[in-house]
Amino acid sequence: MKISIDDIKNSKNQSLKVDFNNFVKELDTSEPVTAEIVFSAYGSFINAKGKIVANVKLVCDRCLKNFVQKIEIDVDETYKLGSLKPASELHSGQEIELKDGDFITELSGADEVDVDDLIYQSVTLNIPNPCVCDINCIGDSEMEKYIKKEVSDPRLDVFKNIKIKKEGK
Ligand SMILES: [Zn+2]
Repeated sequence: MKISIDDIKNSKNQSLKVDFNNFVKELDTSEPVTAEIVFSAYGSFINAKGKIVANVKLVCDRCLKNFVQKIEIDVDETYKLGSLKPASELHSGQEIELKDGDFITELSGADEVDVDDLIYQSVTLNIPNPCVCDINCIGDSEMEKYIKKEVSDPRLDVFKNIKIKKEGK
């Protein structure tokens, strides 16, 4: 989904609210990503402010299981129309830092804002690291059995330092 800058500028108060409800290319989600973003024009800047909700399919770093994590993000992104640098150094979509923590994406003459790209960038930057299915995840199922057994029967403490391949009968 792309929003034309002219549409933003021609909207009331130069603000255009976008309701997004769709899958985003290269973003593996269990259901469509939803977002409510207000695009506002200020002179040669466009500000995108709103909220994104994505149910992202992830793989747990500890047990390697697939799980779905709901990620909610408050977006506040500024785009500069035209260029801040000489044309020879231009790369569309490049982010430059104006002052500390103030990132601006150059549109480099583009006449639209790519909403899918904004969502993709925001979500991928907010994927937790480490990425675990549950705060209490203790690893794979073999490990889980071992720990449960240890808790239920203290006599098995003797096996603490022995690797058990399969549970005996
Ligand atoms: Zn896990």
